[in-house]
Amino acid sequence: MLPPRSNFSEWYSAVLKEADLVDLRYGVKGFLVIKPWAFKVIKAIYALYEKELERDDHAPVHFPAVIPESYFAKEKEHIKGFEGEVFWITHAGHNKLEERLVLRPTSETAFYPMYALWIQGWRDLPLKLYQSGTVWRYETKATRPFLRVREILWIEAHDAFATHEEALAQVERDMAMAERVIRAKLGIPFLALRRPQWDKFAGAENTFAADTIMPDGRALQIATTHDLGQHFAKAFSITFKDSSGRESHVWQTCYGPGISRIYAALVALHGDEKGLIYPYAVSPIKVVVVPIPRKGKEGVVEAYAGKVAERLEALGIPFFVDTTDRTPGNKFFYWELKGVPFRIEVGPREAEEGTVVLASRLGGKETIPLEELSTLPERGRAFDAQLRERAEAFFTSHLFEASSWEELEEKVGRGMVKVPFCSIDMDGVECYHRIKEELKAEVRGEELRGEKPGGERCVVCGKEAKHFVWVAKQY
Ligand SMILES: [Zn+2]
Repeated sequence: MLPPRSNFSEWYSAVLKEADLVDLRYGVKGFLVIKPWAFKVIKAIYALYEKELERDDHAPVHFPAVIPESYFAKEKEHIKGFEGEVFWITHAGHNKLEERLVLRPTSETAFYPMYALWIQGWRDLPLKLYQSGTVWRYETKATRPFLRVREILWIEAHDAFATHEEALAQVERDMAMAERVIRAKLGIPFLALRRPQWDKFAGAENTFAADTIMPDGRALQIATTHDLGQHFAKAFSITFKDSSGRESHVWQTCYGPGISRIYAALVALHGDEKGLIYPYAVSPIKVVVVPIPRKGKEGVVEAYAGKVAERLEALGIPFFVDTTDRTPGNKFFYWELKGVPFRIEVGPREAEEGTVVLASRLGGKETIPLEELSTLPERGRAFDAQLRERAEAFFTSHLFEASSWEELEEKVGRGMVKVPFCSIDMDGVECYHRIKEELKAEVRGEELRGEKPGGERCVVCGKEAKHFVWVAKQY
């Protein structure tokens, strides 16, 4: 058994170790060795996202991991925001480099010099490319595997359009992709928020983000999309001739689903005291087969387990037959810890009757005829729906409202708290500073399609509120 989930920090460390997800002995702070049982799921999450991006007319591309300082410095706000948190390459072999290189913390300044060359006329637009890969950020706070690391697995999509309207429509499409992958497939609920102006991406006009809530009540940003306006287009001279021959700057967006953090949320939100619970959609093995031999019937059970395996093979369902010398009880514990959605038990009785005992990682067991193994994918979808509902119930029970400072103070560590707030433009920054200093919390922003206040007052300064914002402690 793991520590209780109410002690999230201990539970999380224990599950990472016991389920063999990472090895922390590599010895470079914030850089993880990710083991197969985690990385297979991470690859599956990548695949789901890549499929959605390609359905949305994005094409894959590969860009270098290094960015010359001269590119990196081109957009003034961008370098101001990032220069304190990047790794620099200053030497190669015995030589000092003429120009320093930055290990990409994000790739706007790698992509856009090329976009300036590739985009000439309106026929070149929209340009929608994505890269699946790694970025590096010199995180100075305490690191936590997958949650806060220095080597981050993610996807970044960089899009260029002829008009701002098209760019804003892409922001909506990005959020819809997050809905389809993160919420619908992986069962991770989130709020779609517009970040305050003081918390936007360096160089963006506006930042939109998906925030989920971890079991300890802290908010976790798992995807962002930025309306870059024409800031980078002007810095990098990305222009096109419209159909009447007039030259304009493009409008840009970029989108970054944080795969490391989505995986962290999946582990944290679905797991329990027995261990992981992987959604059927991404679990490396959908079902584990545990033979339960009885004295004198070993041969019969073994042969029947083989028949079950053949059947699963023919159905194309990833499975594993556990023929190790552990006891059946130990096998149950082991595969529950690993989070495999279903377990099939077969003994002499099942062999004789042509049935299997099917147990769900979410509880419950039933005996079904061998032929009904074909219902596993359907049962898998129901399994994922049940996981999603559990996570939604947790999530909504950690959303609070407050209409006064005292009420906010009382609720803020427990989840996300919705309060009336004067302004998420720069004129509200003073009120934010008070929240940050006195409550050690962040203003996460206003909901994308949320309601507007009707006469409520800012919980900090008492001025008329322009927004309802969500306040939370964060990762
Ligand atoms: Zn205020």
